[in-house]
Formats: sequence, C-alpha cells, structure tokens
Amino acid sequence: MTVVALGSINMDLVVKTPRLPDAGETLIGHEFFSAFGGKGANQAVAVAKLGVPVYFVGQVGGDDFGQTLLLALKASGVKTDSVRVNPDIHSGVASIVISETGDNTIACAAGANGAVGELEVEAFGQRLQEANVALLELGIPGEAVAAAARKAKQQGVLTILDPAPVPESLPPDLLSSVDIITPNELEASQLVGFSVCDRTLPPEKNRQTLEQAAQHLQQRGVKTVIITLGDQGVFCATPNEQFWEAPLPVQVVDTVAAGDAFNGALATALVARKPYREAVHWGNIAGAIAVTKTGAQSSLPDQSTFFSRLEAFPLSSQP
Ligand code: ADP
Repeated sequence: MTVVALGSINMDLVVKTPRLPDAGETLIGHEFFSAFGGKGANQAVAVAKLGVPVYFVGQVGGDDFGQTLLLALKASGVKTDSVRVNPDIHSGVASIVISETGDNTIACAAGANGAVGELEVEAFGQRLQEANVALLELGIPGEAVAAAARKAKQQGVLTILDPAPVPESLPPDLLSSVDIITPNELEASQLVGFSVCDRTLPPEKNRQTLEQAAQHLQQRGVKTVIITLGDQGVFCATPNEQFWEAPLPVQVVDTVAAGDAFNGALATALVARKPYREAVHWGNIAGAIAVTKTGAQSSLPDQSTFFSRLEAFPLSSQP
C-alpha cells in the first residue's frame, strides 16, 4: 500500500495588510508568516497524515527554502528520497498578500517546479514499481505530467489527476492516460468550456450540467470524473454510476487546501481498495475537516481526527 505523488512544492510567503496595495504602492502590513505549499507536496502530506506510505517526487532549489521545505516534508512523514535539489535554480515561491476582508493577490515564481522534467519522470517511474496509486497535478510542466501519466498507465497504476492550475491547453494524451480527474467547479468549467454549476441553484438542479461536463471529459478519455463543489459537496461519474454527495456540516474557517485534503483521502481510500462511493466519502470528510482550520498543510487531517469523523459520519448516514 504505497502512493507516489509527482508535483509542485512551494514556500508561501504571506503578508497580511489592511487592504490590497495599489499598483506602485508600498503598504505596511501587520503580520507575516511563511507556510509550506505546492499542490503536489500538500497532497503527499495529506496521504502521510492519514498513515499511508507516500513518496513525493519533485524538485526544490539549492537555496535555504529548498532545505526547509525538504525537512518539513520529511517531518510530515513523506518519503523524500526522490526529491531533487537543483543548485542552479531557486525553490518555488508564492508571494501572497491577504487583506483584512480576506481578498488576496498571489504572485508565484515556479523556480525548481518549472524545471521538473525527465529526471523526475524517471524517478516517478521507479517509484511506480512499488506504488498502487499515483497522484498528479499541474503545478509542474504539462509534458512531464503527461509523460508520468503514460508511465503509470503502462505499469497499470491507478492515477488521479488534479488538473490545477488549468493550462491554456492540456497535453493531448493526458486525459486518456489517467484514470480519475478531480477538478473543482471552476477548473471543470475551464476544461469543458461551460459553467458546470450555478451556485444560486440547489445542487440537484445542477445535476444535468455536471453530468454533461463529466461526459465531455469521459469522451476525452478519462474514466472517472470527480468534481469537487466546495460547500455543495462533490459529484462523481464513474463508467458505471453517477452520484452526488452532500457536504458535511462544518464551521468554515479557511478553505485553503480543501481540495488537497480531498485528493489525499481519495488516494488513501483507493489504495485500500475501497469502492468509489466510499473513496469519495473519505475525500468529502477530509475536505470538510480542512476548511475548519487555517493554513494549508496544517489544516490537513491526521489519522485520529479523520477516522473519528468517519465514524461519526459513516457513508450510510448520507442522504
Ligand atoms: P478546492 O480547494 O480544490 O477549490 P473545493 O473547494 O471544491 O476544492 O473543496 C474540496 C472538497 O472539500 C469539497 O468537495 C468538499 O468535500 C470539501 N469542502 C470544501 N468546502 C466545504 C465546506 N464549506 N463545507 C463542507 N465541505 C467542504
């Protein structure tokens, strides 16, 4: 039972300010913190925190951030032997400004994430030999993701693609090389070219557009489409069934990393060979826990929190 995740790893540098600065303006903020991020790393940490062995494959720069990111990943229980330290480049960085009203601006420098390529795909291929589930996302070059997906397909490893951020065009064979795609509502809309969900309507009224979106993506080669809908739960279309699961009732504090928690728990359930209904339920629970806490990796549920919530909200309690 092992997961391998290939993707991005970032240092987030966050400044809180009374409002967002205008162009050319220097605004004094009142709080600063740094946080570990990058979708690939977050999802690997989400799996590790749920107690399943996980390798992260990616690249950090030869700077202090790179060392800090690696140590933090290791401390979270993620296996980091396949993370390359590239001395010629800086680590991935996101510079984030958050205003008192919660608005934000984010400027990213891909750094080492943008240099992920053949060497990482090779390392990913080696890790696939002992993996049952692979996690991919698009914070690294699309060609590397597509090459990795082809390897996973060749080796028969179940592959989940979180298509974030959605690029202008996807590598042509990517969707037919992965088994599951997990866009959020916005990403699903970007991928299919129409709005998949009208938030002013109750979820059941969106069923038709969600089904159309899933069909559209399935026609492009992916077998299972799971569209996460934030506070409206999650929609899933496998080759055999389609279902929607309601969100858990929670007090929302910060929605950062809900999708990463979802993907980590989904992978954890699938590695344990749970059926799709149950795996989606695990994702739904992990996403709901993540929104009750601040931060990205710090909001991902640990084993005891997750399994006690699962016990309190078994799949059979879903309407
Ligand atoms: P992302 O973080 O990628 O934008 P979503 O916002 O769709 O993803 O959240 C992922 C999942 O987390 C949702 O499908 C749901 O299961 C859970 N979730 C997110 N927001 C809430 C919420 N307000 N209440 C309950 N569950 C939530």
